[in-house]
Parts: sequence; C-alpha cells; structure tokens
Amino acid sequence: MRLDRPDNQGRFAEYGGQFAPETLMPALEELETEFAKAWDDPGFHNELNKLLADFVGRPTPVYRAERLSDQLGIDLYLKREDLAHTGAHKINNTMGQALLTKRMGKNRVIAETGAGQHGVATATACALLGQECVVYMGEKDIERQALNVQRMRMLGTEVRPVTSGAGTLKDAVSAAMRDWVATVDTTHYIIGSVVGPHPFPWMVRELQKVIGEELQEQMDGSQRPHPDVIVACVGGGSNAMGIFYPYVGSDVRLVGVEAAGYGLETGEHGASLVAGSPGVIHGSMTYLLQDVQGQILEAHSISAGLDYPGVGPEHAYFKDRQLVEYTSITDEEAVEAVNLLASVEGIIPALETAHALAWIAKEADSLRGQTVALNLSGRGDKDVQQIIDLVDADE
Ligand SMILES: *Cc1c(COP(=O)(O)O)cnc(C)c1O
Repeated sequence: MRLDRPDNQGRFAEYGGQFAPETLMPALEELETEFAKAWDDPGFHNELNKLLADFVGRPTPVYRAERLSDQLGIDLYLKREDLAHTGAHKINNTMGQALLTKRMGKNRVIAETGAGQHGVATATACALLGQECVVYMGEKDIERQALNVQRMRMLGTEVRPVTSGAGTLKDAVSAAMRDWVATVDTTHYIIGSVVGPHPFPWMVRELQKVIGEELQEQMDGSQRPHPDVIVACVGGGSNAMGIFYPYVGSDVRLVGVEAAGYGLETGEHGASLVAGSPGVIHGSMTYLLQDVQGQILEAHSISAGLDYPGVGPEHAYFKDRQLVEYTSITDEEAVEAVNLLASVEGIIPALETAHALAWIAKEADSLRGQTVALNLSGRGDKDVQQIIDLVDADE
C-alpha cells in the first residue's frame, strides 16, 4: 500500500528517517512543519501553480511517438518534461522549495550539484525570486561541467568550489551540510531529489507528483488510452517518483530503470535497488551500494544524474512490497537509445532518460500491443559533447 505521508519518525516503514547531526534536527523539524502548512494552504498552491504554468511551462505535453510506436510494435507516449524550462523535471522541485524559502522568511539558498543540472535549476528559481544562492560543487566537477557553471554564474549564483576529498559530489554534499548547520536561521538547503533526511523525500515527491497527476488527465481513456505500463529512469528517483506516485497501487505496471554502467557483473554501476542492500546514506535508510564492511562504494554511470550510490527511501519501500519493478540498463544500451529517439522522433533525450527508453526497446516483444508511457525526464543537449567524445575514443 502507498503511504500518503511517512510516519512520525519520517519513515516509510523501515526506510527513510532522519540520520542527521543533532544541530540540524531543529531545522528539519521547522521545515517539516512549514512545508506541511504551505501544502495545506490554497494560497501557496495558487502561487506555485501560476509559476509552474507561466514560467516553467506546465502542463508539459504528452506526445504519441508515431514512428517509434510503429517500429517497436507498441503504443508509445512521451511525457515531455524535456520541454519544461531549463530542460528537465528538476525545476518542479526547485521552484517549490524556493517559494517555500520565501514563505519561511529566509533569503538565502544553498544547494550542491554534481553535473550541474540541479545547480542550474536552483539558480534559476533563485534568480526569479531574488534570492541569494550558493551552489557547492567539487572542483573536478567544475572543470568537467564548464557550461553549467557558466549558466549558474549568469543567473547570479555563486559557485563555490569544494577541494576536499575527491572533489566530487560527495564532498560537495558535506560542504553544503556544514554551511547549513552554521546558517540555518537565514538559509534553506534545496536537495535535488527524493533523497536525504525527512522531510526531503516526502516534500520532493509532493512537488514532483504533478507529473503523474497531469498524465492521469492527459491519458484518461477519452482522447488518449490509459497506460498499461509507465517507465522512468531512477537516479535519486525524483522523476520516477513524480510520474509513478499517483498510479502506485493501481493496475498500471510501473518500471524504474537504474544505471547498469559497464554491466552489473563488473561492479561499476549505479543500480542501488537492483544490486545494492539496505543501509544509511545522506541521512536516510535506503538501498545503497556498499562493501561487506558497510563502506559506501563509488557508483558509475555514463549519465551524471544516475551516478549516485543511493536512492530515495520511498523507492526502497516500493521495491520490497513489489509496488514498482526495478531493472537496469548499461551505458552502451543507453547511448544507443539516445540515437534511436533522435533519429526516429527528432528528440535528443538526456542520457538519464535514455535508460528508460532502452528498456522499452529491449522489451518491445514482450510489450507488444500495449500502451506504454515514458517519462521523458530531460533533453540531451547537455550530453552531446560527451557522446562525441565517446565516439572519438572508439575510433
Ligand atoms: C537529474 C536527472 C535525472 C535523475 O534524477 P532523479 O531524481 O532520479 O529523477 C534523470 N533525468 C534527468 C534529465 C535529470 O536531469
């Protein structure tokens, strides 16, 4: 059964919770109270819905992929989150949290980012609302993601390099946490997926479930059929949670696709639900990639958004109760799927999204004749250079 809200300890049965430093507990409690109040307030929804409509471009369309449907022998629909402002679903979450920041009387936002997509979505919402914004980013990632760093700076955000550790996302998370502990009176920390300590997984799910609610209206059996299957990629799990949640417990088959990287057997992947085990990461109990001593392992995926060793705790809950199926797709299969959608439908999807499409293409025979909805979580412009480099390396 689906839970409307986690229990009073912030848990989805055995998953979730608040594994956070004592100094942050009051902030998490305040955030839970303030979000619950805002979410019950029609005034907050009015303000958010207006921004989602006029600024973000919601509702995003549902498009029937005509040629690809013919080619695969299925009835394929794309939920076009790639058409949302900034090119992915992430803006649904950052817009909501930035608005909540204003409501809490705070004027400073911090975030952390790996590839920079969440950083750009946060910087965008903060620019719109006139909020001060600092994004922590590992120095290695700053080098690798020059374009997104420049976008954030143009949006008025300070990108703060993190030089400790390996200079990647994990170190940026620690730096953001340290900042928040010291500045919590004036600052809100916008987490970018359905991960982290309670109330984040619940709050981000509530902010992303607009995707699935729109789909219910757009595929209601009148102008378009009801979906038999809904497929989404899973990194932290926010776009999947957003489209799945309204359907959980119904007769629609829900499939979440993780990153198998170089292949599950190589150990270099990002498939926390498929190949991981329960433990604590970034403040909550969930499935993660760990060694026998419980040390968190590095994830690997060609797509930065799926390159994460944990996953949102509510997905762990869904997995154990078999409310959602989880599977995985390799780097190579994902790149092939980018090219498939680009050449057949004129849409270049994000590498993350391509994992979900690759699963559909692979399973086309077993899905024959069914109505399949794909959450097209983002556009792939950001990945073009990476794909060029990959082809060059092969030659
Ligand atoms: C960040 C990102 C993802 C992965 O994040 P989730 O929280 O799992 O949704 C997927 N697709 C795109 C386009 C992204 O930018």
